[in-house]
Amino acid sequence: MILKNKKKLKNIIYINFLIKIYVKILFEKNGYMNLKNKKINNQKEVDKLRKQKFKTGRVTVGKLEKILYKTFNVLDHGFVRLIDYMGDDSSIVQAARVSYGKGTKKINQDKNLINYLLSHRHSTPFEMNEIKLHVKLPIFVARQWIRHRTANVNEYSARYSILEREFYLPELKNIQTQSDINNQGRGTGLKTSKAKLKRELIKKHSHNSFDNYSYLLNENEEGEIIDLQEEGIARELARMTLPLNSYTQWYWKIDLHNLMHFLSLRFDPHAQLEIRVYADIIMDIMKKWVPLTYDAFIMHRMNGFSLSSTGVEFVKSLIKNKKFDKTSISKRELNEITKRFDLA
Ligand SMILES: Cc1cc2nc3c(=O)[nH]c(=O)nc-3n(C[C@H](O)[C@H](O)[C@H](O)COP(=O)(O)OP(=O)(O)OC[C@H]3O[C@@H](n4cnc5c(N)ncnc54)[C@H](O)[C@@H]3O)c2cc1C
Repeated sequence: MILKNKKKLKNIIYINFLIKIYVKILFEKNGYMNLKNKKINNQKEVDKLRKQKFKTGRVTVGKLEKILYKTFNVLDHGFVRLIDYMGDDSSIVQAARVSYGKGTKKINQDKNLINYLLSHRHSTPFEMNEIKLHVKLPIFVARQWIRHRTANVNEYSARYSILEREFYLPELKNIQTQSDINNQGRGTGLKTSKAKLKRELIKKHSHNSFDNYSYLLNENEEGEIIDLQEEGIARELARMTLPLNSYTQWYWKIDLHNLMHFLSLRFDPHAQLEIRVYADIIMDIMKKWVPLTYDAFIMHRMNGFSLSSTGVEFVKSLIKNKKFDKTSISKRELNEITKRFDLA
């Protein structure tokens, strides 16, 4: 009797083993491949794309051609990759001169025209240039980023695909207290030992959430069924358990005018560090792409600032050494002027 049961058990284990292999083959055939392989294949794909060469009659930018498809790492698992672009500085000038009815000029005149257009808020010539990026970013950063409605976006689908066990964990130095002066910002750093504890909690919580995700899917990271007796639920439902520091990816295409708007807001010290680091890389890409526009953007938009009429009166009073009633100007503007003009 015992011998008979043992034989039965052996048969069950063997059948289970065969089912597992069959399911695995089926899954791989359907494209749910091993995640490790997927990562390697991604790199192979990128290398292959970087080797492609096309002949074109369109304007190209040497410095951008060199970084096409290159991965710029951001945060712990994120990246920015330049996929495509249209136009250069000359395209802006060319578009602007249609309205002026004049042809191409020397570089110095192009530079002056770009400065003029930017400082006088002419937008449409800059809308002629476009850029397309592939971005991998934590979901909470994506929520801020997506508010910029003037871009075209196509996001990785967590209804269709299974997400990877990847979470953004802040560097210890970036785990800080709530700011006392800015409701939307960070204050001072924590002791390393305390920061470690907080980060450990974020890590543990993230992994617990992912374990629940896998449990609900009934599928492990290798795409294998966890429990053959159980049914998993749909990916579109299981993803609800994932935390906001999970990574997502998208293709993001935007014109230069709106890109500058995005950068002016997200490269600003008021923006959250985790989106600023992406803006920082995009600033470098922009500098390579349209150097004249980049210089004008830094001069007029990033390093310049606008004053209210009261602000102008205050600055006038400083220059003319006249009295000024400081209660008539907002505290925020007064602080800005004091900071910008080194008045403290
Ligand atoms: C530091 C910081 C803090 C923030 N805090 C918050 C917050 O607490 N809560 C919150 O909800 N958001 C917040 N935001 C988001 C912010 O309010 C904007 O939604 C975001 O910056 C996108 O700006 P935008 O609408 O100008 O950009 P885009 O969507 O790219 O639009 C560019 C411009 O196009 C025009 N435009 C585009 N779409 C429309 C439309 N449908 N109708 C009319 N005009 C349109 C507008 O003139 C707009 O300025 C914050 C942003 C920053 C940078």
